[in-house]
Amino acid sequence: MKFSQYPYKRIDLERFKKDTGVMIDNFKSAKSAKKQVEIIQKYQKIQKEIQTYSSIANLNFARNTKDPKSIDENKFYDEMGPEIAAIDNQFTQAINSSKYKSKLLEEFGEHFFNLISMELKSFDPKLVNLMKEENELTNEYRSLLAGAEIKYKGKTLNLAGLSPYIQDINREIRKEAYQLMDDFFNKNEEKLDHIFDRLVKVRHKKGKVLNFNNFIPLGYLNMNRSDYGAEEVAEYRKQIVRHIVPLVKKINEKRKDILGYNKMFIYDTLYFKEGNPKPKGNLDFQVKQAKKMYSELSKETKDFFNMMIDEELMDLENRSGKSGGGFCTSFPSIERPYIFANFNGTDHDVTVLTHEAGHAFQGFQSRKQAVNRYLWPTYEACEIHSMSMEFLTWDWMHLFFKEDTEKFLFKHLAGSLAFLPYGALVDHFQHWIYENPDATAKERKLQWLELENIYQPGKNYDKLNFFKNGGFWQKQAHIYEMPFYYIDYTLAQVCAFQFWIKMQEDRKGVWNDYLQLCKAGGSMSFLDLVKLANIKSPFDPKVFEEVATKINNWLSENSL
Ligand SMILES: [Zn+2]
Repeated sequence: MKFSQYPYKRIDLERFKKDTGVMIDNFKSAKSAKKQVEIIQKYQKIQKEIQTYSSIANLNFARNTKDPKSIDENKFYDEMGPEIAAIDNQFTQAINSSKYKSKLLEEFGEHFFNLISMELKSFDPKLVNLMKEENELTNEYRSLLAGAEIKYKGKTLNLAGLSPYIQDINREIRKEAYQLMDDFFNKNEEKLDHIFDRLVKVRHKKGKVLNFNNFIPLGYLNMNRSDYGAEEVAEYRKQIVRHIVPLVKKINEKRKDILGYNKMFIYDTLYFKEGNPKPKGNLDFQVKQAKKMYSELSKETKDFFNMMIDEELMDLENRSGKSGGGFCTSFPSIERPYIFANFNGTDHDVTVLTHEAGHAFQGFQSRKQAVNRYLWPTYEACEIHSMSMEFLTWDWMHLFFKEDTEKFLFKHLAGSLAFLPYGALVDHFQHWIYENPDATAKERKLQWLELENIYQPGKNYDKLNFFKNGGFWQKQAHIYEMPFYYIDYTLAQVCAFQFWIKMQEDRKGVWNDYLQLCKAGGSMSFLDLVKLANIKSPFDPKVFEEVATKINNWLSENSL
């Protein structure tokens, strides 16, 4: 079945509420663990169906944020989300107080109850209206950015459409493109500040409802982090400052030499004088190459990618009105993932495709997990699949980049490393934001600048005034849309680097580790999954040193 043929409908909330009520009663009065397991399975099937409709509504909206029908349907499921969460919560409570809990634990595993306990700690019916308000605000932010109409060179572009110019070989064009972006944010400063301020207040209130001092503990619970907390993360960020920041500084010095500039500005995004490597063909060409690549990488990737093409499970072109960025979503009742991206002719097209294909591949491999909560792991574990897939496909990059392949590999590795300090900066900033919920818009911007100095010393915005005054974070959608979802990328990157190291020693072994990790889905916590994949915890300071040394060596040896 192709995506366009998927059945879709609005669910009947009242009916769902009633049915769940009956199921909960039956669950409580069940005379055996077996009966309870059956009821859980029945409920999970309904959950999958609702999740599928909601994903379809959300995806159709992202594909066309201006289509009135898509707007309506997305709004319906957005508003429904917190109501459904409230009903889910009742069922979860019943499971948690089951008289056959030890039997259920045997059946579903300890992690099941860990996840349940976090869910129960992070929910209260009093949150429903606040959650709805939060959804509306994040949608407001998303529409504001998606609606950007930037006139440049006779075209009307959205923010994603500016990307090729940001990597243009001509410095003046890059500067102009950055200036247009700065202008867009500057023009919308008041709106952006207002939306964010209301978001912080709503989230703080949510934390208070649950008797926390602020939003941070709730933020961690919402991310389902069961084996580390804010203290470990703070320690971890220090490792990045110690080991990675100096290395990134070195890479930037090198880029400055290569480009022959006296000073590097934010718009100097190039790694090579003749420009960053570009894929040697359009979207169709790239999909064709990816098909060949995945058919050679493994039997599993071959079947998977052919299915993605045949069942039309990818939307990769950049269109006006389409929401920005790239993501992977899924339709659990149909057991299919979907890849969404905005190709723009830069090398990013290839990385976004391999990245999202990594997510989709895992989702597909773990689609039969017996527990809905195990279909996807927590986010930092999810990003191991995607970021490692970017590296596991290195041997086929010549299909996309031909004579520029080595340049691509260099930029990919150096760029992945350079990302770590930025990721830690976004994380550190968010901790500060929710520790200081009453800060003004101006104070937030000053704090960003202060932290930027630690994580990205020497970053120079030239005369881009909005960014220069501390507004750069306002284009980082996660900060608005998914608080605390960011350090995850860096944790996963350190894991993916370990895959990259092992890949050079044992190709077959590394693929088996990867496949095993994907199949496990979310049936374990982050650090347990790391163990399963035969790699080391990124919280271990020694791992940092090892990874930094190996990457440094490779970059020196393969310096172009
Ligand atoms: Zn990802």
